[in-house]
Amino acid sequence: MAEQHFPAGELMKGKRGLIMGVANKNSIAWAIARQLHAQGAELAFTYQGDALLRRVKPLAEGIGSDILVECDVTDDATMDNTFSTLKDKWGKIDFLVHAIAFAGKEQLAGSFIDNTTRDGFRQALDISAYSFVDAARRASAMMNDGGAMVTMTYLGSERVIPNYNVMGVAKAALEACTRYIAADLGPRGIRVNAISAGPIKTLAAAGIGSGRHMFKFNKAASAMRDNTDVVGVAGAALYLLSDLGLSCTGETHHVDGGFHAIGMPQEEPLKDALG
Ligand code: NAD
Repeated sequence: MAEQHFPAGELMKGKRGLIMGVANKNSIAWAIARQLHAQGAELAFTYQGDALLRRVKPLAEGIGSDILVECDVTDDATMDNTFSTLKDKWGKIDFLVHAIAFAGKEQLAGSFIDNTTRDGFRQALDISAYSFVDAARRASAMMNDGGAMVTMTYLGSERVIPNYNVMGVAKAALEACTRYIAADLGPRGIRVNAISAGPIKTLAAAGIGSGRHMFKFNKAASAMRDNTDVVGVAGAALYLLSDLGLSCTGETHHVDGGFHAIGMPQEEPLKDALG
């Protein structure tokens, strides 16, 4: 893979924010963090459990961040600790990146109605949608007016994607939450948006059945005939989190090579890709 390029600048100079959802160097949250850092932002990170600490710590340190807090979004005590640590260190923040989702592997394959259990549904919605409401409430309590928040979603919220199943339902909820949070925080000038990214090779994506087919199909069927570049996703986050994004809130912004815009893909590229 070519080295990712994040152009340097000062769009985020003087701004501080929390990045939730870096698991390793392939995480979408890490690409966003690199982009924000390149534009002068000061960053704090959460990580989920000790197993991920050894991956996240060197990344955070590599961009000069010394605020790294363990946080499992299902555990109120770790959420309390995350935001009280930030309050102690910084007092105020300017932005929040929420890039967290989870559903059990057995929920992400085969038939939606047969394989979606009550517990699986509850867990997916809790971790992937409610956690944004919770984090947004806590972050907004210490956010400067004029701040911004971004969460990550996927087209499986709007259309049926094989095996995405309950995660599609969770993403639909997440997008609705984004609009409601945007309405609550709008009067303070805090903007809240979701980025709907096309498939990107990460740990989370590996958990979805038929991943290889998904990448091949997206490449052949998208307007740009290519898979989504995480650098573009990071660029969209920069726009939405910086003052470039003024007046944009409650939006679900697609960064997927135009895949979402296509009703019926051209025959030839599809035949070539899928045989
Ligand atoms: P990733 O595996 O790198 O990141 C997922 C993160 O969620 C991890 O850091 C993990 O620790 C965190 N997480 C899961 N359960 C948690 C919990 N209980 N508490 C705290 N953190 C928890 O994968 P990614 O693809 O970078 O995913 C980031 C976001 O982007 C997710 O919301 C995902 O649904 C979304 N997204 C991904 C794609 C894709 O194709 N990769 C496309 C569109 C949207």
